[in-house]
Amino acid sequence: MARIGFIGLGNMGAPMAGNLVKAGHEVTGFDLAPAAIEAARARGVTIADTAPAAVAHADIVVTMLPSGKHVVSATEGLFAAAAKGTLFIDSSTIDVASARAFHEAGRAAGHETLDAPVSGGVGGAEAGTLTFMCGGAADAFAKAEPVLAAMGKKIVHCGDAGAGQAAKICNNMILGISMIGVCEAFVLAEKLGLSHQALYDVASTSSGQCWSLTSYCPVPGPLPTSPANRGYAPGFAAALMLKDLRLSQEAAGQSGAVTAMGAAATDLFAAFDAEGNGGKDFSGIIEWLRTRHG
Ligand code: NAD
Repeated sequence: MARIGFIGLGNMGAPMAGNLVKAGHEVTGFDLAPAAIEAARARGVTIADTAPAAVAHADIVVTMLPSGKHVVSATEGLFAAAAKGTLFIDSSTIDVASARAFHEAGRAAGHETLDAPVSGGVGGAEAGTLTFMCGGAADAFAKAEPVLAAMGKKIVHCGDAGAGQAAKICNNMILGISMIGVCEAFVLAEKLGLSHQALYDVASTSSGQCWSLTSYCPVPGPLPTSPANRGYAPGFAAALMLKDLRLSQEAAGQSGAVTAMGAAATDLFAAFDAEGNGGKDFSGIIEWLRTRHG
């Protein structure tokens, strides 16, 4: 069993750290927020007084922080405090450039590094069923895999430094675009007098089939488990969808990729968020699309 330092014990980090404890690892954590600290303590995580103290005796360090700037600034001190050869796994969703900076700084300080963002949300973090998308050297991945298995059920090595973040951003750009496509189809069907169930029955077994329709249907009725059936409580909050779409547009700009649909989806979610809907499930954008007139 490993000694693990865990930095960032928020909505995702606390249950992830709790699953490491359940798997028998010795987990020492740190967060800036008292509520996060208490949530993690209740799950059996030992709380350190400072972030460097949480990683000083660790074999492996996991970071689960809000954004690239948090990861780059927090890991600067962590790299200095950890013993040489420590494996650093960053599971935050961040921009590819910051992920590569994290790898470079970690390597320069004599550590192993892996970017390993997740999908599966808070429910997957609680249940230990997250998907990890990993970028980094094969050795680092091999060392991380058994530890990540305590928090997730699918662990994919996507390639070199930054490849995990690239996979996450590309996947979530598909998700943002496809959800808007499905929502627009339901709104058009309403205008044409076609029932939600009829569109669902046809499209779910036709070429319009996709995850946004058949695993996360944005209208109540056809799929009782989707957030549409509980007033669009998240789920996956629209603010997080917007964050990931903005990361996709930043990466597209830097790499010269043309992502016109990604840009349109970003603008629509930005407008939805600006009207105070960031805390709603992202599929709730259908209610806002209905109020728009051509
Ligand atoms: P969160 O805001 O609940 O947690 C982040 C935590 O980091 C907070 O508790 C904050 O106090 C702490 N923090 C910030 N700076 C710190 C520092 N320097 N040292 C120690 N702690 C610090 O966010 P979350 O929902 O847990 O998400 C974490 C990451 O996971 C984000 O990058 C997010 O995009 C990604 N993610 C979230 C979800 C989700 O459904 N919530 C799903 C997939 C990926």
